[in-house]
Amino acid sequence: MLSSILSKKQCAACKFCCSFRRQSLWETPLFPPEVVEKLGKPNEYGVVGEFAATGDGDACRLVLENKYRTADPEEEVPCTFLNPQKGCILKHEDKPFDCSIWPLRIMRKDGELVIALTPTCPSIGAVPSQALTELVKSGLGEKILAYAKEHPYIIKKYRAGFPIIYL
Ligand code: SF4
Ligand code: SF4
Repeated sequence: MLSSILSKKQCAACKFCCSFRRQSLWETPLFPPEVVEKLGKPNEYGVVGEFAATGDGDACRLVLENKYRTADPEEEVPCTFLNPQKGCILKHEDKPFDCSIWPLRIMRKDGELVIALTPTCPSIGAVPSQALTELVKSGLGEKILAYAKEHPYIIKKYRAGFPIIYL
C-alpha cells in the first residue's frame, strides 16, 4: 500500500522489516485464522509456519523465538516467509495487513486510535514526509482505520517516539 513512496531498490537491499530481534518480537505480523489454517500446514509456498494464539481475538502470531541461535540481543531472525533473494514469498491475499502498511502502525494513545510511523524504515525515514502524510490523508488512513475496526487485534499500544500522522 506504500509502494508508491517506498524505494524498491532500498527494500531489496534492506529487508529490515522482515527480520526480528528478540526485543522486536512484538512487531511480528499477526495473521488471521483463515490464513493460519493455510500456512500452518503444507501449502503452495512450500514453507510451513508455526503460529501461536495471541489471546487477542482469533489472530495468531508467527512463532520465531525458538529460532535464535545465540544469546546476542542483536541477533536477527528472518520471518519464515522471507526468501533472502526474492523477498516475501506470500501473495497479496495471504500477506498480513500489518506487513502491507509497514512502516505505518495503528496504535491506541490515550484511548484514541492514531496512525503512527515506525521511525526505523530507511526508505521512509523517521519523520513523516509530505508524500507520506498526503498518502495517509487521501484514503489510506481511513482504510487502515476501517480494517482495525474489523480486526482490532492489529491495534498496538502507542510507543513513545512514533510520530503520529493526523487524518
Ligand atoms: S524497512 Fe523500509 S526500506 Fe527496509 S525493507 Fe522494510 S520497507 Fe523497505
Ligand atoms: S509475512 Fe512477508 S512481508 Fe511480512 S514479515 Fe514475513 S516476509 Fe516480511
